[in-house]
Amino acid sequence: TRFAVGLTGGIGSGKTTIANWFADQGATLIDTDLIAHSLTRPGGLAMDAVRQQFGSAFVDADGAMDRAKMRELVFQRPEARQQLQAILHPLIRSECEREALTATGAYVIFVVPLLVESGGWRERVNRILVVDCPETLQQQRVMQRNGFSREQIEAIMATQARRTERLAVADDVVVNDVPLTENLPLLTKLHQHYLALSQTNV
Ligand code: ATP
Repeated sequence: TRFAVGLTGGIGSGKTTIANWFADQGATLIDTDLIAHSLTRPGGLAMDAVRQQFGSAFVDADGAMDRAKMRELVFQRPEARQQLQAILHPLIRSECEREALTATGAYVIFVVPLLVESGGWRERVNRILVVDCPETLQQQRVMQRNGFSREQIEAIMATQARRTERLAVADDVVVNDVPLTENLPLLTKLHQHYLALSQTNV
């Protein structure tokens, strides 16, 4: 298996922003949020199981998962969140492997918001890169971007791993509380390191 990085971070930490920088340098991104989305589109590979587990009330007229309704359910019932994850996680993992096979970049970066929460990634990736950011800044960014209230964001953050849990599994950390330009020296060093590791790994 090829050299791979797992990139994670809390909501609004800047995962996409940092991942896109690596993509510009030639890494191939494999984004588990996009995969989860396509699995739950009309005709998506997860839809039979979603219908069976949660009922047609959670499937909209097009045959896609009713995201708003599901979001509400999983906030109220942690066991429903577990059930949804149990459906999605194995499908996400196999789609990741499928995409990794045809990746043409210098190395692969799996962008996995729930890397710590889902388990099993440590064994798959060679490096875990955590995008870290103070919680107040996460809140500010998400409030600005999504128009969420502080309470909504806090509810989402409460379902995610704590900052310290992520940092505990990190091999590399980017503290994304400054303009991207200020992190370019660190990012460049990480990219060079990943390139070197990917060449010795083949
Ligand atoms: P989510 O988990 O919600 O998808 P994310 O971790 O992928 O979020 P981004 O979408 O990259 O985070 O960033 C969140 C918001 O913060 C975006 O509006 C982005 O433009 C902004 N942002 C990210 N990094 C920085 C930075 N270093 N300086 C200023 N703004 C930033």
